[in-house]
Amino acid sequence: MKKLLTGNEAIAEGVIESGVEVICGYPGTPSTEVILTLLSEAKDLGIHIEWSINEKVALEIAAGAAWAGKRSLVTMKMSGVNVAADSLASIAYSGCRGGFVIFVADDPGANAGMPEQDSRYYARSMVIPMLDLASQQECLDYIKLAFEISEKIGGPIFLRSTTDVSHVASDVEIDKKLKLEKREASFERNIAKYTKAGATWCIAQHQDALNRLVQASKIVDNYTTESGIKVNETHLEQDSKCGVIYAGAVEGNFKEALKKYNLKFSWLKIGMVHPLPEERIRRFLERVDKVLILEELDPFVEAEVLRIASLNDKKVEILGKLDKTLPLLGNYSFKKIKNALEVLLKTRLESEQDPKILEKAKELEIKRPTSFCIGCPHRGTYFALNRAIKNLKYRKDEIIITGDIGCTILGMNKPFESCWTEVAMGASIGLAQGFKWAGIKKPVIATIGDSTFFHAGIPPLINAVYQNAPLTIIILDNGWTAMTGFEENPGTIPLNGSDHTRIDIIEICRGCGVEQVNIIDPFRPEEAIKIMMKSIEYPGVSVVVSRRECALQAKKRKVRLPQRKVNTDQCTGCQVCLNSLACPAMVFHPKGANSKPYMEITSACFGCGLCEFTCPTGTIEVVKDGK
Ligand code: SF4
Ligand code: SF4
Repeated sequence: MKKLLTGNEAIAEGVIESGVEVICGYPGTPSTEVILTLLSEAKDLGIHIEWSINEKVALEIAAGAAWAGKRSLVTMKMSGVNVAADSLASIAYSGCRGGFVIFVADDPGANAGMPEQDSRYYARSMVIPMLDLASQQECLDYIKLAFEISEKIGGPIFLRSTTDVSHVASDVEIDKKLKLEKREASFERNIAKYTKAGATWCIAQHQDALNRLVQASKIVDNYTTESGIKVNETHLEQDSKCGVIYAGAVEGNFKEALKKYNLKFSWLKIGMVHPLPEERIRRFLERVDKVLILEELDPFVEAEVLRIASLNDKKVEILGKLDKTLPLLGNYSFKKIKNALEVLLKTRLESEQDPKILEKAKELEIKRPTSFCIGCPHRGTYFALNRAIKNLKYRKDEIIITGDIGCTILGMNKPFESCWTEVAMGASIGLAQGFKWAGIKKPVIATIGDSTFFHAGIPPLINAVYQNAPLTIIILDNGWTAMTGFEENPGTIPLNGSDHTRIDIIEICRGCGVEQVNIIDPFRPEEAIKIMMKSIEYPGVSVVVSRRECALQAKKRKVRLPQRKVNTDQCTGCQVCLNSLACPAMVFHPKGANSKPYMEITSACFGCGLCEFTCPTGTIEVVKDGK
């Protein structure tokens, strides 16, 4: 049976068909939807699925389950591997008993922000095999294959995707559920395998991990999946001395170009990028004089092809990123691949698309929103913060405000222009300490969201208290991991039927030794400004928890606040409200031939009331009885 699925949905389907029993992860675009898709089915499937507090914890939980003999999966985006890496390096040496798959999604083109980090290097440095996904069908087929390999070699395996595979949909053959015997969890003491106490054991484990790579390579080299996909595939054309070696998401556009221009040359597809099929590459290079390497992000395969070619007697010209035929940055569109093929073949290929279609596509392109949603509590927090700074007689450009990952970073944009930095989960608090110890005399303020605080903000907070760093930390607590798709976090008020225990950020801060912890409601600006001023002036570590539920989630729960309206007769059209808040529910009507300028508040208003506070003429009022 075929079903239209995105890559991430296909992985979720493959997880069900593979009999996985423990699934953990931390949300991060473009990986989030694997767990999101599975969460609603967790109870029916009778399996454990969770959003863990961060990627390292998620990895450790999944490893524990795999060590106990169960099939387990951990999911994360590329930057999550950095967080998990410390434990991963050790776990990779120990191997596993039950199948253990680490799903990581890279983001060429940085669609969701963050660096264009290439996770393939982790596979190499951690001595873990890695399958690279090229299509939605592969998402389903390879997750099954990954568990098979993991159990055969007795070690974890990476499954790597990229945005164009994870977020694009196509027909996928489903419903081939594996019949696995029910496994009982067990774990035997084996300190030579599961500890690192002594060089002899560590070196022996390293050797085991290296042996597993060889085994994995042998399993996949001639492997064909149930739906007929060859993991590594060589296609030879006798009459051409040109060739292409490719891996990953470029497959779609490459195959389309082959078909569209009726191109005939040899090609080699690589489905396992670590370890590379070295002998297959060597044989391929013997058949060509010139080869183009197609892969997104770093020249990972290309550098290896260069090395393999240099060991061969036959000279082969290699085109790719290193000779600048292709860019190092961004994802590879059809046009980029077509241009590279023109260099390879030394011929012009006909124009690929009607320019009118391209123009239309540009019009329809969805731009990343740069402002907060209507009723977003973060608007009130940054508004109050800017006012507090102003009231304390500081210039805005002399108070450093570090930002963090998630919706809260939108405070860097107009009209607030508050955040100065964005580095990594939890980094706002550490960076702020660095600024202080460097000798910044004026107050330094760190801003961080609730989920990010749970993920990686607690250790730097403890450090700040321990080191007596004079710092103000503003935790924007909207109760959800909102930016990635509204996942729950330990601070989310448990929904009906949930058996989670809520952890209160305020108690955490007090438990970490913060003496000055205050809570504000971002929809009550007057009070919020006063408390922020007091916190900024506090000589030690002070924390302000700005608490209001994410407006979109509140709306889903039918929370209704009194909407606002503008008394147009009194409105001067000064736009102070709009310029202070940039609330999308406001529409400004400029001066017309027979009318004065005025502001309108549309029915989209959430009722946060902030605009009422900003209006100098007091003309914004509560809508009563729908009027
Ligand atoms: S009350 Fe004002 S600021 Fe708040 S959502 Fe409505 S229009 Fe926007
Ligand atoms: S701030 Fe008040 S007076 Fe000025 S445009 Fe807005 S509603 Fe009108």
